[in-house]
Amino acid sequence: MKRILVTGGAGFLGSHLCDLLLSEGNEVLCVDNLFTGRRKNIHHLLQNKNFEFMRHDVTMPLFVEVDEIYNLACPASPIHYQFDPVQTTKTSVIGAINMLGLAKRLKIKILQASTSEVYGDPEVHPQPESYKGSVSITGIRACYDEGKRCAETLFFDYHRQHKLNIKVMRIFNTYGPRMNPYDGRVVSNFIVQALQGNDITIFGDGKQTRSFCYVDDLISGMHKLMNSRDGFTGPVNIGNPVEFTMLELAENVIELTNSKSKLKFMPLPQDDPMQRRPVIDLAKKELDWEPKIPLRVGLEKTIAYFDEALKDME
Ligand code: NAD
Ligand code: UDP
Repeated sequence: MKRILVTGGAGFLGSHLCDLLLSEGNEVLCVDNLFTGRRKNIHHLLQNKNFEFMRHDVTMPLFVEVDEIYNLACPASPIHYQFDPVQTTKTSVIGAINMLGLAKRLKIKILQASTSEVYGDPEVHPQPESYKGSVSITGIRACYDEGKRCAETLFFDYHRQHKLNIKVMRIFNTYGPRMNPYDGRVVSNFIVQALQGNDITIFGDGKQTRSFCYVDDLISGMHKLMNSRDGFTGPVNIGNPVEFTMLELAENVIELTNSKSKLKFMPLPQDDPMQRRPVIDLAKKELDWEPKIPLRVGLEKTIAYFDEALKDME
């Protein structure tokens, strides 16, 4: 049995990771400042004697004793990471320094939840890990994109300088149960709008693309990366390589919810990437991982979750 630290453990992805680690018989220390995370996501774990929740901001030093660290703390939705952009950069950069310092003192393995946003608005399509990206340095997404890029740099410097055992994962758009219904990401927005019979808000002409990975597939990739062979650091793309336009996503959501919602076109936010699709050859080779859950199956599960979640909020 290991004692494992999950930062951002009360968030969407973090709470699913806590479930998996506990199901394997580990102890989990979940550290979260509850900025975008919710107690509701971990409510079912609070009675588990192997689970401990600590309200803490990763920009502050943390002194705990653990055997492994998954560093997920950081708001992921553009609305939330742009709400306090300075805090977003601090969370990525100072949070990484604090968690890397902890891993260095304890001589333990640490995994970083990085992002496809390190590729910015990509000029290479689809994106392999070798692509260096096209990020706007001064734009409104930079607090997140550059923060995550700097965090990757720190991970590799700690690896070279201090021989730290690191694993860096570039996560592409992921969706599923426990997303915050009002967190502003496209899958949750469209489903909530469709279930409530409101207009579906398409930003721009809706022809921009994303590749959506269901949460169970993503968490299995994350776990495989943490347990991959010694010396394999990544960065490795984890995401679903099947690409959809936002119009196609809206059509699927409307059909699966039997909704009468209409499309409403709105301005495209600044620096919104036009296309995004991972090359996952490295994950296949090193981790024997590829996603299994097609979009429509994942959407059905997510719609069922939001249907219940919205009734609870009434
Ligand atoms: P989320 O917003 O649901 O979870 C992030 C968690 O981090 C929340 O619980 C939040 O309260 C916590 N947090 C934020 N700032 C903190 C701080 N300073 N100290 C302590 N806790 C803090 O988002 P998510 O989708 O679960 O994302 C988890 C991680 O995965 C993030 O690092 C994100 O950048 C990365 N990621 C997610 C996606 C995706 O599509 N879901 C894509 C790429 C990368
Ligand atoms: N988007 C949209 N309507 C919404 C929310 C988002 O059309 O209500 C678009 C957004 O402009 C982007 C895509 O959906 O092109 C994915 O947005 P999201 O915020 O989910 O993630 P990210 O842009 O970080 O990939």
